[in-house]
This record gives sequence, structure tokens and C-alpha cells, in this order.
Amino acid sequence: MHFDYSQQAFALASTLMPGGVNSPVRAFQSVGGTPLFINHAKGDKVTDIDGNTFIDYVCSWGPGILGHAHPQVIQAVQKACVDGLTFGAPTRKESTLAQLVQQCYPAIEKLRLVNSGTEACMSAIRAARGYTHRDYIIKCIGCYHGHSDGLLVKAGSGLLTQAVADSDGVPSGYTKTTLLAPYNDEKAIQQLFETYPNQIAAVIIEPVAANMGVVPPKPGYLQFLRDITKTYDSILIFDEVITGFRLALGGASEYFGITPDMATFGKIVGGGMPLAAYGGKKEIMDVISPVGSVYQAGTLSGNPIATTAGIETLQILMKDPDIYDRIDYKTAQLAQAYKEKGYTVNRVGSLMSVFFTDQEVVDYASAKTSDTQQFAHYFHIMLDHGIYVAPSQFEAMFISDAHDQKDIEKTIQIIQTYL
Ligand SMILES: *Cc1c(COP(=O)(O)O)cnc(C)c1O
Repeated sequence: MHFDYSQQAFALASTLMPGGVNSPVRAFQSVGGTPLFINHAKGDKVTDIDGNTFIDYVCSWGPGILGHAHPQVIQAVQKACVDGLTFGAPTRKESTLAQLVQQCYPAIEKLRLVNSGTEACMSAIRAARGYTHRDYIIKCIGCYHGHSDGLLVKAGSGLLTQAVADSDGVPSGYTKTTLLAPYNDEKAIQQLFETYPNQIAAVIIEPVAANMGVVPPKPGYLQFLRDITKTYDSILIFDEVITGFRLALGGASEYFGITPDMATFGKIVGGGMPLAAYGGKKEIMDVISPVGSVYQAGTLSGNPIATTAGIETLQILMKDPDIYDRIDYKTAQLAQAYKEKGYTVNRVGSLMSVFFTDQEVVDYASAKTSDTQQFAHYFHIMLDHGIYVAPSQFEAMFISDAHDQKDIEKTIQIIQTYL
């Protein structure tokens, strides 16, 4: 397999953009080598500019639940483009998408459409703070909620101590009100609430963590979060940017039967376009301007083209809810193949990670025991055999409805033969 054109493209891109990319994990830094520059994608396959075709388990990091370039989505987007790309004025499509989200996810009484998961989480937290008139939030170590200043915190072991940003350029004042707890650790959350009883606006959580590799919630953990936030009049925010419309139409909330006060969406909800959403109880969302006094806005928010892609995608999912059984089944087959090879596998529905550790992975600390060098080796074996998995240990493997049985079997065969 040759990557000459990708290498040339990367050399140019590297003179123009930091690391040659517009989002760091694309740069292949943790696995080595040159990122694939994609020419086109269709179904479960991506083709790079050298003409190599791969079975794709990245799926654009989550949006691609239907696979690439689903004809119905593409056709609707093409049609919408002709009518204009953006107006900065409302369209009926925004309400159509909002209604679809609400039908899938009844906890969303009102919502706002935004442009990225980062924006959705940042705005949800601002709403929660505005509603509760409290400053502190709790997030879990290893969970990612976008790159807004106050959320760029995951390391820093000190429970009950104040968080330190993972990134330079974030003044300490921005993270002072972010409290940290290890994922799946009820006692840590309990202690934080006891220490700051009337000061915690919200707990924000990935109901299935998928940004430290996939880490499922322990039985009872989400219910615990539901109960304790209620006890302390704090808001429970499910960050469903990955899990929303992926684990079920109603995301992790439906999958685990837990109703949060607010939720954030991204990835699938935009059908492959830059669109995200946050919402929740009406009385909370009514703190948002122009009804309330919490400001949040966006020039391209609710963009008609992105909204069209979201509407089509959700409609396809809603018409064919068996899709969730299908992707679950295919992912289970892959998980089984890895397990038979002796790897540690975490899987919830069509989200899966393979870890190179003997430990059970239940939080960030145990995820970090995975041997990332071994991961890099694994990544390149897969790539060399035409299988594209995320170029980082700490990302999920995504399975779409477009992954057909033949390609799943081909992948399993490569796992069995070469790993
Ligand atoms: C991807 C992701 C985000 C951020 O979304 P962007 O659209 O990349 O800004 C937030 N939360 C979770 C759980 C994510 O996986």
C-alpha cells in the first residue's frame, strides 16, 4: 500500500495548519505515520487520495451511523443547497429537527441548535449555572465535553482540590469551578456534594464514557447520579454527543432508563454536518436569551443545510429502529473476535474499545494502563490490511448500519490471522 499522495498532502498541510490538521487526533501522533487524506467515502468504506480503500471504523468519530454518503441524506442536502445556504432567520426545518429530537428523547422539552458538541456542552453548563445561580460543576476524569476553557480538565488527581487545566492558555480562574471525580466512583461525587452542598450547579457526564476508550457506567452509577443531583437541587446533564441516537433513539437515557434534566447532542444529530444541540426541561431552557438572561447565540446555528442532514438522518433511524439490533449484533461479533485473541474489550451497543491491558477498564486510571505502543502496532497492522480504526487508544470504534456482514467477517479474519 502506498501513501505517496497523502504524504505530499500532509507535508503541505503541515506548513499551513498546526500539525497539518484541524483537529489534533487526526494527526496520527500517537500511532506514527501519515494521516490518510480522504478523497471520498461511501457506505462503510473510505478511499484516500492514493486510491487505497479501507473498511472504516472511525465513521467520522461517531456521526456516521448510516455509513458514508447515504443516498437519502445526500439527495436532501443537495436539494436544500439550491434554496440558499444560510439566512440568519428562522426556518421551519429547525422546528422539524427539534420535534424529531424531542420524539426520540422526551427529556428534551426545549432545545437550542448549535454548531458543535463543544458549544452544546459549554452552553448547557451556562444554562445550568444561570438557572441554579451556582458556580461549581462536577465532571469526571477522562470524560470529554469539548474544548471550552472550564471543561478542558481531566487529569489532576486531587479530589476535593481544584482542577488544573490540561491545556496551556487556560487561566486558572476558568477551571477553579470545575470539580473532578473519577468515573464510576460514587463516593467521590458524594464527597464533593458534601463539601459544596449548595454550590454545585450541575454534574455533566458521558453516560457511557467514550473519550478514554469506551468505559461503561457500573450498574447503578447513573441512577446514583440521578438521585444525588435531585437531593442537592443540582442539574444532571447527560453529554449524549456520542451516545445520542447511537445506543438507542433515546440515547443512553433510553438505554439505561435514566432521565437527565438536560442533555447535549452532536455527531449523529447533524447527519455529518456541523450541527449540535442542547436542551432539557422547559424551565431550565427558558433562562436562555431572549426569554431569560443567559446569553447564547450563533450566526450559523440551525443552518438549513445542516438541519436538513440531521432531519433526514433521524427520520431514517426512526423509520427503521431495528438498526440498533443490527449494529449491536455486528459489534458483538467483532468484540468476540478480539476477546478470543485475549484482548480486553469494553462494549456498549455499537461502541467498542480494545485495550492492551490485563486490568478491567472502569475509569481513566485503568484506561491509562493500556499499552499504547502495542496499540500503535495493532493500528498499523489493521491499516496495512485495509481496516481503518481510530488512530488513538483512547477513542471508540464505531460500527454503522452500512457495515455489511461480508466486511465484518473480513475484519474478523484479519483479527484472527494477524493480531
Ligand atoms: C465529540 C464530543 C464532544 C465535542 O463535540 P465537537 O463537535 O467535537 O465539538 C463533546 N462531548 C463528547 C462526549 C464528544 O464525544
